[in-house]
Order: sequence, then C-alpha cells, then structure tokens
Amino acid sequence: MGISLASKSRLASIEGRVPTVTTLCSHSSLQIFHGARAEGLPSLGLTVGPPQRFYEAFPLARPDRFLSVPRVKDLPTVVDRLRSEGSVLIPHGSFVEYLGPEAFAELDVPVFGNRAVLGWESDRRKEREWLESAGVPMPTRYENEEEVDGPVIVKYYGAKGGKGFFLAKNREALKDFHPTGPYVIQRYVLGTRYYMHFFYSPLSDRGYRVGHGSLELLGMDRRDEANIDELYKLGAQEELLKAGIRPTFVVTGNVPVILRESLLPRAFDVAARIIERSIELFGGMVGPFCVEGIMTEDLEFKVFEISTRIVAGTNLFISGSPYSDLIAPGLSTGRRIAQEINRARHEGRLAEILS
Ligand code: AMP
Repeated sequence: MGISLASKSRLASIEGRVPTVTTLCSHSSLQIFHGARAEGLPSLGLTVGPPQRFYEAFPLARPDRFLSVPRVKDLPTVVDRLRSEGSVLIPHGSFVEYLGPEAFAELDVPVFGNRAVLGWESDRRKEREWLESAGVPMPTRYENEEEVDGPVIVKYYGAKGGKGFFLAKNREALKDFHPTGPYVIQRYVLGTRYYMHFFYSPLSDRGYRVGHGSLELLGMDRRDEANIDELYKLGAQEELLKAGIRPTFVVTGNVPVILRESLLPRAFDVAARIIERSIELFGGMVGPFCVEGIMTEDLEFKVFEISTRIVAGTNLFISGSPYSDLIAPGLSTGRRIAQEINRARHEGRLAEILS
C-alpha cells in the first residue's frame, strides 16, 4: 500500500459509486472528457456562463452534462452540488489559474492528484527548492545584478503566460530593467526546448519503477511562443525594442517533438528525481506533470520549470503519441487519468490518487 493522500470524509461523496470526471471547460477539457468516455466514466463540464457551442461539434469529447456558474470565483458555492454528483476534479492550467491555487486547494471535493503540490508549484522559490534538492540541473540563479556574468532572463513571480519577462545579453543591458514586482534573475540557457509529458502512477507495479509506483512518458512538445522564438531571442531584442516591441513568451500553440533516443535516460532520470523528492517533501506528485527544459549543445538538460498537472501540449496526442503508443495504442493523458481512477476504484485505493 502506498501513501494515503485523501481522508475518508473527503472521499465520502464517491464512496461505492462511479466517480464523475469533472473539469472546467477550457485548456485540455476536450481530451479529459474524451478520455473519460473511452474508459466508461461519466463526465461533467463546468462552464462560466452558458456552455460554449463548440462542444456540440465534438461528440466524442462533449461532457455528458454541464454545470454553469456566473463567474469562476462562484465555483466554491457549488461544492455541495459537485459532491452530490460524485465529482472528481481534474486540475488543468486554466482551472487552477482562473480560480487561484489557494481557492482551488480549498475546494472540499475529491481532486485527482495531490493538491499539496499546488503550493510548491505556484511559488517559484519553493519550486526551485524542490527541484534543486532533488539534484535536478537548473539554470543558474543570480541573487543580485552584480553576479551576472552572461545572458539572463528576468522572470516575475507567477508571470502569466510569460508576459513581462526581460532578456538581457549581459550585466550592462540589465540596467534597462525596471522591476514592477518581485522577480528572479536566471541564466539565459541557449539550446532547444523540450516539454516532456510524464505520468506518475503510485498504483502501477510494472514498467519504470519509481517510489512504490511507476513513471510513464506519454508525449513531448515544444511551445510556440509569440512574439519571440528560438534563435532571434537574444539578438533581435534590441531591434525589437527600438521598434517599441517588448518580447514576450505568450504561448500561441504547440508542436510535437521527440528526443534523441540516447537522451531518454536523462529525461527519465530527471523526472524520477522530481517524483522521489516530492514523496519526501509532501507525499508525492501523482498523475500527469510536465518537465520543461532546454537541451544545450553539450547535451546538458537544464530544467527551467515544471507543471504539476496536465499541460495543454498533451492535446496534440489525443489519439496517442510516439511514446504513449509504446505503452498502449491510442493512449492520451486524459485517457490515462481515467484509467488510473478506474484502477484505483477497483483496487480500493482511491485515497492514494485523490486528495
Ligand atoms: P516559464 O514561465 O519559466 O515557463 O518560462 C516561459 C518561457 O521562457 C519558456 O517556455 C522558455 O521559452 C523561456 N525560458 C524560461 N527560462 C529560460 C531560461 N533560463 N533560458 C532560456 N529561456 C527560458
């Protein structure tokens, strides 16, 4: 038996019944509902205002039912209704972001995964403490401007969609940075970005074993980021600034990528360390997460961020990826979530994957 994340009272609403996969209609919800349907679980879509019509266009991904609230912040007022529906909430980027990590963590409805992870992910310093103490290589962080000895990226805490980041080629150029809030200065790493979609199952006893469970790689993508991308990032900055354009890293889309096979051991090693440390720190991260980093020309992998839930890049792989097809044909992250819920239910182990 693994670590119990949820109390009996938290799980009372789904005791002895088929749980309803519930999420906010946005981000990766089509994939999540599609996965639930494929695994025979009912689904409920939460909407702000009336449901968007486009769900009708996707019969295999439309949730069975909708529940609407006037504003996102009204969601806590429908907690009793969600419990009576037997809901299990699936966190995704927009769900947690729009509601706020604190309000999300307080919802008294079973949540897929360990809700304690939200506090570690939403604070850049805590996240770094977790990753560094796990032995994960990260871009150098500078405590102050004087230490800067190369190109840097300056990030605000909790910057939404990479807006307001500042790039400087050197210490000199950093003088043009005028902070408007708390920030961190990181070494700007030159290389190729990879966003690796992992899944940690504390229930599985086969495959790539980590902790009591196993680690799976379900896909990989790279984000298209407007209005900046790849090689021009540092060089074009000054020209862009002259034209009054501030570079941003606002995500506009995703492209599928794969990693050189010889680099896969490194990818798994990094993800396994992150899981092992999460078990020590807060009982473990369960389910989907994304390791986001840069592979340098020396084939060093520097992790600049992790997302501790399903990421939108997984939407590329609703019918499987070059990695998930090697586990089960046509396996998406959304479907993997539904499988894990079903397995836990049948084995009486829901407390290990819900919180
Ligand atoms: P983050 O908010 O940390 O996910 O960063 C947003 C984007 O900024 C990433 O997707 C990368 O394109 C870029 N980025 C973040 N950190 C670094 C870094 N240390 N070096 C180079 N690019 C970075």
